[in-house]
Amino acid sequence: MKYDLLLQHGEVVDPGSKLRGLMDVGILGGKIVEVAKGLDAAQARKTFSVKGRYVLPGLVDCHAHIAVNGHNMGIDTDRFCRASGVTTMCDAGSCGSSNFASLRYLVDTAVRTRAKAFVNLSTIGITGARVCGELSFERYADPEGCARTIAENQDFAIGVKLRFGPNLVWDYSDAPFKVARKAADMAGTPMMAHITQTPLPMPEILKHYKPGDIITHCYHGGTNGIMGPERQLILKEVVEAQRHGVIFDCAHGRSGHFSFPLIEKALDQGFLPDTISTDLTFEGATLGPVFDMPTTMSKLLHFGVSLDDVVLRTTRNPARMLGLEGVVGTLKPGAAADVAVLELRDEPVELRDSDGHSLTAKRRLINHLTLRGGRVWYERPN
Ligand SMILES: [Zn+2]
Repeated sequence: MKYDLLLQHGEVVDPGSKLRGLMDVGILGGKIVEVAKGLDAAQARKTFSVKGRYVLPGLVDCHAHIAVNGHNMGIDTDRFCRASGVTTMCDAGSCGSSNFASLRYLVDTAVRTRAKAFVNLSTIGITGARVCGELSFERYADPEGCARTIAENQDFAIGVKLRFGPNLVWDYSDAPFKVARKAADMAGTPMMAHITQTPLPMPEILKHYKPGDIITHCYHGGTNGIMGPERQLILKEVVEAQRHGVIFDCAHGRSGHFSFPLIEKALDQGFLPDTISTDLTFEGATLGPVFDMPTTMSKLLHFGVSLDDVVLRTTRNPARMLGLEGVVGTLKPGAAADVAVLELRDEPVELRDSDGHSLTAKRRLINHLTLRGGRVWYERPN
């Protein structure tokens, strides 16, 4: 037998690998082995007809949270991820140098979703944030511990996370960025900064950025975002930074991080994020407005982003951020057989942003089948 599993007659959408069109996907030994028209079903142990559906690389969510407040999505991470076609995700700084080992233990023992993590600059990570931000006190900033934690977890930790927003930092100046920069340089990794509603203009923040560093929540609608205080035109410094390799990630999140009016304006001016992620937490997954990756993708489709542009930003681009390009986020032969089979269903759906706006879209993406390492990991019951 040439294939353990064969997905037949689906529309392959993998712009990162320049694979597009009606093709079959052959899988053997947990890897993709062939993507072409008319593969021989007699050579397959198991076949799936995915006619009328889109066949994507397993989705890569580069900003989500397994362990806010110590657990949160925790052991439910797989349940949320596999149902939504996400096979790889990244915990974006739930834990810092003092509690990163607990995240690592959780992932090693109870999470099958492929996972990476950013280490929070704050030694306590995101814990008790409803009471006080993790960097409300300068003493919690631990650049040395953060760099050491990354060095001790090279196969798992990929960078430094700073949350810079209301009630999160000890000083609303560029001081926290200097400390995050120091930690990232010591670790030799990128830094990701959550930036929302700040008194510091984006060009000031970008002075601390190097290519490969990440601005997350780039579609927030507060002051001093990618359009500056007036919120009319994309700042030239933002366009310049993106051209030079700074990554703009539009992590959705629950409150104040993802604004429909701002998205509309940004897209009118041709500003697309480099990666699309959910900032998923247990609350975001169960109460919304995030729910999951297909719902977040549907929102960008509604505003006119093409399916290929959305898929590139949820597969190849985030895989590159996580250091996994060519391994996941692609259907190229040789890659892990992580696959998501989605339907773009024409039906009205109410979508909400994280600022209280809602709209009715005409269609939405629905995940039907998830493969992880060549095995069926989720099949939608219907
Ligand atoms: Zn987050």
